[in-house]
Amino acid sequence: MPETQSQKIRDIQDFGEEGGVVPVIDVASTSTFLDPLDMEKTFHGELEGCYLYSRHSNPTVNAFGRKFAALEGTESALGVASGMSAIAATIEQLVPQGGHIVSSRTIYGGTYAFFKNVLPRRGVTVTFVDPNDLNAIEAAVTPQTKVLFTESLSNPLLRFSDLKALGEIKKRKGIKLVVDNTFTPLIASPASYGADVVIHSCTKYISGASDMIAGVIASSHEFIHQLIDVNQGVVMLTGPVMDARIAHELYLRLDHLPIRMNAHSAAASFLAQKMEQADIPVIYPGLASHPEHALMTRLMNPDFGYGGMLTVDCKTSKAAMELASKLQHAKFGLYAVSLGFSRTLMSCPSVSTSSEIPEAEQKAMSLSPGLLRLSIGYTGDHETQWKRFLACYQK
Ligand code: PLP
Repeated sequence: MPETQSQKIRDIQDFGEEGGVVPVIDVASTSTFLDPLDMEKTFHGELEGCYLYSRHSNPTVNAFGRKFAALEGTESALGVASGMSAIAATIEQLVPQGGHIVSSRTIYGGTYAFFKNVLPRRGVTVTFVDPNDLNAIEAAVTPQTKVLFTESLSNPLLRFSDLKALGEIKKRKGIKLVVDNTFTPLIASPASYGADVVIHSCTKYISGASDMIAGVIASSHEFIHQLIDVNQGVVMLTGPVMDARIAHELYLRLDHLPIRMNAHSAAASFLAQKMEQADIPVIYPGLASHPEHALMTRLMNPDFGYGGMLTVDCKTSKAAMELASKLQHAKFGLYAVSLGFSRTLMSCPSVSTSSEIPEAEQKAMSLSPGLLRLSIGYTGDHETQWKRFLACYQK
């Protein structure tokens, strides 16, 4: 049996300076060179392994990167300041002026707005396509296309991308595949299907406590080196780096990510099944009724379930907000954006995290105005949570 991601994360063990079972936090922003010539060589890229300045690299951020790379099965990983900075830096590094991106149209609203409104100012254009229409994806690739972008499990529609087919398309077309794996850490391993760069908003499941903003870029040694190059590196030169204190927190939390993901999946799966039995219009990738259930089952890692995200279509945003209000009052969950928290978080994407997407486009991608997105937490017990949900739904 191949080793699970859980084992691979566990096997990355750094020690404190006196043998402590956890590494120390190296908070220094700059490091001493015993030989001044070594500083010069480091700047010229002729010497590796020396710490220069923490916007370039930092021992604690690197330790987090090594552990994260083990999780994603990539050679390397770089912690950055947020999920958006992970996306922006990756795209800026890979796509020159005049370049083109083919992107899934069902993506987080912030990413959509960045692609649609900010990238054209930099001379980069984006074509949005249905992530499950492989012919449309292939047809959208032009000689200027540099990147194919998707979310493994999309926000908020929970469509699962055919990572294997996308890996084949990107190879055939000679372009890079960039995958946002924020909704499915451990569950999906896009790099194993050929993704060149895997990004996460660590603000979500990786943190798990809704107490920080952070991101990560997992890729080859070569690409991570490019990002921190002193002359050309977008992370080095625009500066959205991860603070060592955040990297240390996340490093420790990665060890219990497998337990947390299993707990999220178990709670969400329980609720989704109960909802479906009660004829509530629920979408959850673990249900056989989900359009990509079979695809996801084939491509995912088997040990962590189908994740913690589900949606319920309430038809109108008013009805969604009314239900969410009742649920919040009944202590089922909290009406707040974001996801991956220990408690359930609820939001109505059409008027919040997807509101950047124009109404006509929301309609075209079948994003119902009344979709209620739930990030199911693992606190409490499944039966009580279900009883609370049903009572509010029937009220
Ligand atoms: N990617 C996805 C799928 C998200 O849901 C989000 C935020 O909601 C982001 C990226 C952006 O992450 P951050 O808020 O950490 O910048």
